[in-house]
Amino acid sequence: MQAFEYVAPATIQEAVSLLAGSGDRGRPLAGGTDLIVQMRAGALDVSRVIDVKKIPELNAITYRPGEGLTLGAAVPCHRIVQHPDIVKVYPGLVDAAALIGGTAIQGRATIGGNLCNAAPSGDSIPAMIVLEATCNIFGPSGMRTIPVERFCTGPGRNALARDELLVSIHFPPPLAHSGACYLRFIPRHEMDIAVVGVGASVALSADGARIDSARLALGAVGPTPLSAEAAAALLRGKEPSEESFAEAARLAQEAARPITDMRGTQAQRRHLVGVLTRRALRGAWERAKGGKSNGR
Ligand SMILES: Cc1cc2nc3c(=O)[nH]c(=O)nc-3n(C[C@H](O)[C@H](O)[C@H](O)COP(=O)(O)OP(=O)(O)OC[C@H]3O[C@@H](n4cnc5c(N)ncnc54)[C@H](O)[C@@H]3O)c2cc1C
Repeated sequence: MQAFEYVAPATIQEAVSLLAGSGDRGRPLAGGTDLIVQMRAGALDVSRVIDVKKIPELNAITYRPGEGLTLGAAVPCHRIVQHPDIVKVYPGLVDAAALIGGTAIQGRATIGGNLCNAAPSGDSIPAMIVLEATCNIFGPSGMRTIPVERFCTGPGRNALARDELLVSIHFPPPLAHSGACYLRFIPRHEMDIAVVGVGASVALSADGARIDSARLALGAVGPTPLSAEAAAALLRGKEPSEESFAEAARLAQEAARPITDMRGTQAQRRHLVGVLTRRALRGAWERAKGGKSNGR
């Protein structure tokens, strides 16, 4: 492990000026479950680690019906999965937070860190894309906001400038009669990286007979998590049924750009996109109807 300076600022302004003064060798630290592992492996050359967990805005969970949820970037997963409002209103986010690592990892790991790490397989990212989450980013020129689906720009790369900090992630209130679900495939029960992950959300008409809108996002089948727009668009106006979910799953398979690596082949990943898309849509539909299923 290389020697590095550790600093723990108390404000976002202080954190940003520390980042600006560190050139390319400063990194924010949230849970450290990616950063410390990468530093120990020698994959990163870091001289200053800026612990952001003492900044109040990054540790806050604010939920107001009608306004939505704002999740500080340094809130660990264990607080998310135990928060009664998040469990009730955003179960699709809880699906993902509850899958990251195991209990010990969830005590440290954050959704903000998962997003900033920008792994194509990051479990929270498809879940956040289908919930239409946006990133609040602070830098020398103030606050800016971008959708989560535009945040990852390549494997391990994101839309932040070196002197910008992800402050929080905002989730709008869910649409009426809507539900969301995230599922992934791993060859073990836990503590593994997704071979494929799929997030789905559907909003139904008031009588439940039609899909008014849908969103689909795919993880680990492209250089970044992908929004499968054509597949989601096909569902608009359709009856929620195994047939329409299967049609959308076929289009999601076309949108996927999988590679073959140590975790799976292109063919296996494309097959999994089909299976998980159908199941995630089923799970989102059940939740939209008021059920509790996650589609499995
Ligand atoms: C045993 C183990 C199991 C794991 N299992 C999973 C899994 O199942 N699914 C999964 O998706 N991941 C998994 N991971 C990876 C990791 O735990 C997650 O990506 C986690 O969410 C990262 O969050 P963190 O708070 O620890 O991030 P950190 O390691 O603190 O940070 C990650 C990156 O984001 C940057 N960063 C952090 N916060 C900010 C901020 N506010 N603004 C700007 N940049 C910031 C850091 O500088 C760093 O580059 C696992 C890791 C381990 C060690």
